[in-house]
Amino acid sequence: MDQKELRAWEARCVQDETPRCTAACPLHVDVRTFCGLMAQRRFDKAWQTLAKVLPLPSVLARLCDAPCKAECVRKDAGGPIETGALERYCAQVAAPALPPKPLPSRRKTVAVFGGDLCGLCAAWELARRGFSVSLYCGVPGGSLLNLPESVLPQGALERELENLDKLGVDLKRDTDLTMALLDSLAESRDALFVDGDAWPAGFDNFGQPDELTLGTRRSGIFASPAGQPSPVLRAAAARRAANSVERFVQGVSMTTSRQLEGAYPSRLFTSLDNVDAAAPVCGDLCPDENAALAEARRCLQCECMECVKVCEYLKHYKQYPKVYARQIYNNASIVMGTRQANTMINSCMLCGLCEVVCPEDFSMAELCLEARRSMVERGKMPPSAHEFALRDMAFANSDACALARHAPAAESSDYLFFPGCQLTASDPDGVQAAYADLCARLGRVGLMLRCCGAPAHWAGRQAMADQSLSTLKEEWKHLSSPRIIAACPTCLNTLRQWLPEAEIVSHWSVLRAMGLPEGARSDGMVLAVGDPCAVRHDRAIREDVRTLLDRLGVDMVEPELTGELAQCCGFGGLLAEANPELGRLVAQRRADELAEDFVTYCAMCRDRIARTGKRAMHLYDLIYPGGAEPGSRPAPGYSDRRENRTRLREKLLRTLWKTDQSGAEPHEAVQVVFTDEAARLMEERRILRSDVQKVLHYGARAGAQFGHDETGRHLASWRPSTVTYWVEYEQQGEGVLVHRAWCHRMRIKGGRA
Ligand code: SF4
Ligand code: SF4
Ligand code: SF4
Repeated sequence: MDQKELRAWEARCVQDETPRCTAACPLHVDVRTFCGLMAQRRFDKAWQTLAKVLPLPSVLARLCDAPCKAECVRKDAGGPIETGALERYCAQVAAPALPPKPLPSRRKTVAVFGGDLCGLCAAWELARRGFSVSLYCGVPGGSLLNLPESVLPQGALERELENLDKLGVDLKRDTDLTMALLDSLAESRDALFVDGDAWPAGFDNFGQPDELTLGTRRSGIFASPAGQPSPVLRAAAARRAANSVERFVQGVSMTTSRQLEGAYPSRLFTSLDNVDAAAPVCGDLCPDENAALAEARRCLQCECMECVKVCEYLKHYKQYPKVYARQIYNNASIVMGTRQANTMINSCMLCGLCEVVCPEDFSMAELCLEARRSMVERGKMPPSAHEFALRDMAFANSDACALARHAPAAESSDYLFFPGCQLTASDPDGVQAAYADLCARLGRVGLMLRCCGAPAHWAGRQAMADQSLSTLKEEWKHLSSPRIIAACPTCLNTLRQWLPEAEIVSHWSVLRAMGLPEGARSDGMVLAVGDPCAVRHDRAIREDVRTLLDRLGVDMVEPELTGELAQCCGFGGLLAEANPELGRLVAQRRADELAEDFVTYCAMCRDRIARTGKRAMHLYDLIYPGGAEPGSRPAPGYSDRRENRTRLREKLLRTLWKTDQSGAEPHEAVQVVFTDEAARLMEERRILRSDVQKVLHYGARAGAQFGHDETGRHLASWRPSTVTYWVEYEQQGEGVLVHRAWCHRMRIKGGRA
């Protein structure tokens, strides 16, 4: 990713955009923070928020006509926040704030002509910027003095006039505001500002002030337009003029980069889903504290965060995609130097939920996958990040597990059943029953056992995925390019994307069309339906599955995040490999969605939810129950998954194709049992039973072992390639009892392991 691409990614996430109220406020009051503080009854702090940006805050807070209300997101849910009323209430109850500290003197003089609201505000703004300001007026305050006490108490105006004095403004009262005076001030000062309420006769010869700069035809003289009724727009004109004066004396462009002065549009998205349409509590005034608190609490504290709300991964890293894009960019820059990449990039499940909920279609999946590919290309992907999953994929595609055949006794195939390596690993009996059912009812159905290549794709190793797919394609062609029936939603997506020439249907649509097989359970159960994230864009499959569940007599309960909004179980994107702890959290969150037992149609979703302790079943458990109680099937561990695949292949070859290809490797003769702790550690550390058997067979035979005289235990090691395995065990009769197993990549220089 280069700088330009980074900026394009960042621009898509609107979370950092200014809240709409603040963007619509001509003075950019931080209304969100103000309302938040008011809601907490922190009136003094709330007042400081106003006083930070408002000139003459005690006056303006009382007079503001609140144009921000027109843009308040709340306007579509009960009515906009009554910010004007809240500001007035705050002005009444909060302790007055000190005037802002002016910047160091610029040694430039500016005259302000006229002392009505706009002139006073201009003097305030200019004095804050470090100008030496003289304000010429008749009576300071002008028309403000005519306002009733209930609207603007005289004390409030007096306080702000004192503050102007503290800011160093020289008030020239009782001045006759003539053109002659204006001419002489224009000559003697660095710049001049004329309040729109104090234009002397003949001033309109200078023309109307320019909308953007408020400059007049005469250089160095700025003016606000006459007759502006809105107090806050008068104050905003004063600020714009002060900005122009600043540019003018600095001799810089008067026009560039001024889009964010005054009101501007904001792209910040805030969802109104689940927002109660509560009507405003206050009108123009808040009658009492309770009303003010209630009104402030109606503020939605606008932000987007739609993706973060639904994704445990985004939540886990405590920021949002705009920040993550920069972190990923920075990470890549560091990687080009000395460091290797971090876990964050490898923890996205690549499930696409963020993109669906994002108003700007921001896809973290795309960003993270691209980053993974780039890391792989540059040789910076940590080897441990996905190694186990890639080894598992290679195993599923090895001679021990893979198979591609026409139906027994058939010489061609009309269909090809592709259950996927994870379903085969999870439920080999279900796969066998499904295949038998398809053969019985559809005739010439071939079978292909292998991995679709998704793990390599997720790991950013597209070349490896392509290699796997090209073998798959050759075998498919060799079987006369039959229509593929896929049972796994991830396989279905992968094959549809990378094998577009094939006709691919889901097993669920086939079952819907031909009806449930005999033996499918039909006793009513209440089950929470868990759509796999892989079908979020496939409404047809979701409907097929619900039709089947309905026929099975299942009473379906839908979680809030379902269908297009389905969450990942933590398998997607290989999260569970790169970040097992977060993977567990993600699965737990899905398991906790609903109290009812869980049913899904993805083997990994089923197994991962079952591992949380929740009763979870795959659709096969209901359609091809095989006598077992649905939901009672344990979630197999890594070693069992491998053995399930090899055994299924051997069994099918033996029973259907009458071929015995079983041939045990020498290490498989080692008889091992494990303590519970050893089994737990092995699962956590991705150490397989076969890894332990190899250590005991090859390592021990090669002499890589020690004995402990007192405990009678032995320690053996074996380094088949890049990882060294250690096993602590004791001999028990013909076999061994394993107490502990661990592994590491590090190699001791000069050592054997
Ligand atoms: S709800 Fe609150 S934060 Fe959102 S636009 Fe309205 S005032 Fe601003
Ligand atoms: S895990 Fe899914 S929802 Fe979360 S960031 Fe990745 S693709 Fe988006
Ligand atoms: S949904 Fe997420 S990525 Fe999209 S704009 Fe909102 S915070 Fe940013």
